[in-house]
Amino acid sequence: MDLIVNGATKRYKNKVAIDNVSFTLQKGVIGLLGANGAGKSTLMRMICGILNPSEGEITYDGISVLEEDYRNVLGYLPQDFGYYPDFTAIDFLMYMSALKGINNKDAKIKSMKLLEMVGLTDNAKQKIKTFSGGMKQRLGIAQAILNDPEVIILDEPTAGLDPKERVKFRNIIKELGKDNIVLLSTHIVSDIEKIADRIIMIKDGQIVFDGKEEEAGKDLETFYLDIFGGEE
Ligand code: ADP
Repeated sequence: MDLIVNGATKRYKNKVAIDNVSFTLQKGVIGLLGANGAGKSTLMRMICGILNPSEGEITYDGISVLEEDYRNVLGYLPQDFGYYPDFTAIDFLMYMSALKGINNKDAKIKSMKLLEMVGLTDNAKQKIKTFSGGMKQRLGIAQAILNDPEVIILDEPTAGLDPKERVKFRNIIKELGKDNIVLLSTHIVSDIEKIADRIIMIKDGQIVFDGKEEEAGKDLETFYLDIFGGEE
């Protein structure tokens, strides 16, 4: 399980969003931390193979993330995930299963199991439009892992969650990190404190820290503030 980012650069017209970034990810929870505009989404979208790097390459166990086969091992929750408000939770997962090519029988079993995992069993037949932000995000995680992915990418998954929801969320992430690569982006330090096995901080498209929380040498929040000041 080696996800290798090798010299990845993304240039937009007059902006270098990701600047020659390299690292290797292995099993565990990795927190990608940075202020708004740091380049988190751009990097994650390249790792998902939906955005071509201007330079460099990204591979997973030897295959390029741009290859079709990679889709089978990838689970992605984008930042602006589009839910279908009039679908029930179970219908939504069944629909996503169909898109992912999972047969009907397996999809039903899997969807129920995942709803249980994310604590939504009692809400299975409820329409998504009645869900809280946290419930939607947990459903978003469920859809991302329908295909038992080895690489799970979650772009700002805790945005807008209340403290109770955050706790639930952290527990799910922790569990997923036991067997998979879970890369989670955020600009909120407390979201990844204690659950990330490794923290990668980016600023202006470059890595400014890559290591374990204790290697920061000080409280992570203080460390983050030293680097980003008051940036959100
Ligand atoms: P983050 O996810 O950390 O908030 P992004 O990856 O969204 O950061 O953005 C990184 C930088 O690249 C920002 O300065 C943003 O304005 C710029 N950017 C992102 N997408 C585009 C785009 N499609 N065209 C031009 N600039 C972009």
